[in-house]
Amino acid sequence: MKVCVIGTGYVGLVTGVCLAHIGHDVMCIDNNTAKIEQMQAEIAPIFEPGLEEIMRSAMKAGRLQFSTDLGQGVTHGEILFIAVGTPALPNGESDTRFVEAVARGIGQHLNGGYKVIVNKSTVPIGSGDWVRRIVLDGVAERQQQITGFDVVSNPEFLREGSAVYDTFNPDRIVLGSDSKRAIARMQSLYQPLLDRTFAQDQTLPPVPVVVTDLTSAEMIKYAANAFLATKISFINEVANICDRVGADVTQVAHGIGLDSRIGNKFLQAGMGWGGSCFPKDVSALIHTANDYGYKTELLNAAVKTNQTQKLLAVEKLQQVLKILKGKTIGLLGLTFKPNTDDLRDAPALELIEALTRLGAKVKAYDPIVTELDHVQLAETPEQLAEGCDAIVLVTDWKEFRDLDYTALAHRMEFALMIDGRNFLDPDQLTEAGFTYVGIGRPNHSFLKPKVVTPQVQITAA
Ligand code: NAD
Repeated sequence: MKVCVIGTGYVGLVTGVCLAHIGHDVMCIDNNTAKIEQMQAEIAPIFEPGLEEIMRSAMKAGRLQFSTDLGQGVTHGEILFIAVGTPALPNGESDTRFVEAVARGIGQHLNGGYKVIVNKSTVPIGSGDWVRRIVLDGVAERQQQITGFDVVSNPEFLREGSAVYDTFNPDRIVLGSDSKRAIARMQSLYQPLLDRTFAQDQTLPPVPVVVTDLTSAEMIKYAANAFLATKISFINEVANICDRVGADVTQVAHGIGLDSRIGNKFLQAGMGWGGSCFPKDVSALIHTANDYGYKTELLNAAVKTNQTQKLLAVEKLQQVLKILKGKTIGLLGLTFKPNTDDLRDAPALELIEALTRLGAKVKAYDPIVTELDHVQLAETPEQLAEGCDAIVLVTDWKEFRDLDYTALAHRMEFALMIDGRNFLDPDQLTEAGFTYVGIGRPNHSFLKPKVVTPQVQITAA
């Protein structure tokens, strides 16, 4: 099928590339000229495992092209995906300006036969009808007859860091529309994915398709993210109780996660949830509920718990180091999770701000981030450790598991490790000379600190 994807970020580009890979003829549109030129030169503008390889092969096969020309894209596509950003406004509401601009643009260029316009962006509940109206406004400006179109809500559930895998191995595909014709077209588009033709495990049953009305599909996306965020806040709260009563949250999570009603996913206590989706989607849902006169007690609490959790590392540093003014703190990892270069709403950013405000000097090392304001970026973990009073493991990048922690400890002023993701082996770290502090693992906290060799030689008078 001929497909146009508008917005080539984490969702749009991955969607476009994967649809081209499974055989569709895809045109990706973005209004960022530099980005389009980069992609035309076969370079992916984002880091996402496996993306660049399949992007190149789809381009070579002539099934994937990039352009800044929305009109060309609208003409090309039988299905038009809107996949632009919907960031949060300061009041928590979703900023739908980009969706609005694209919808108007589609209306201004709509031509040819019947088209399906797909809301792939996470948009506030009610946006399906709103997009339809804006497209019609765009059409009316030209006073032209069009054959017709329908709007479908097709929320995206991919995870950054495994976006390509998730696209080929979805848990479900949600399609919201009251048009049978539009739903049928979307099902044909996704048929190879539904049949698991490109899935890692092709023996699994076909992917379930959840067909709903527009509003329910929009709600499914928000409810899914709100649930996952609440689940993390829940285990973080349990971790904080574990810290006080002497239980180990990793053992507790294992024990409860084996209960099939609970499940073991999203039960890792840590430094709170962040990233480009959970914070903004939870606040958008709260905002929508408030608009309709409903106060979201549970979601408000999940947000509040998360806010405290993001700064828990500061509290843990203060418990051991006391005064942070003048101390040097190294952050191991910056992104909100491994295998992505996305720093949007990463807990590291708030941590940096808080530590800097308290007078600490902040250094950081991340395998993928090479530029960040107000932070000295080290080129290696060893360089990061040099002169630090503590390291906070912020992101559980796989390679951090196998660092030479003895060598790192030797380079530090005081070998304190705050393991913000409960990712490291406390015994191994202690053996390496670290004072290990995890999240909700009090049995490993405040072990005997390493004796620090004085830097200054004191000679007798
Ligand atoms: P992004 O910021 O990475 O990408 C958005 C892209 O849209 C950018 O390349 C931008 O240049 C382009 N754009 C903006 N206005 C445009 C216009 N008028 N015309 C053409 N292009 C335009 O965003 P993202 O992370 O890919 O998220 C897109 C949507 O998908 C959001 O609504 C988000 O909530 C949702 N979503 C994101 C994820 C995720 O993991 N990132 C997962 C599920 C859903």
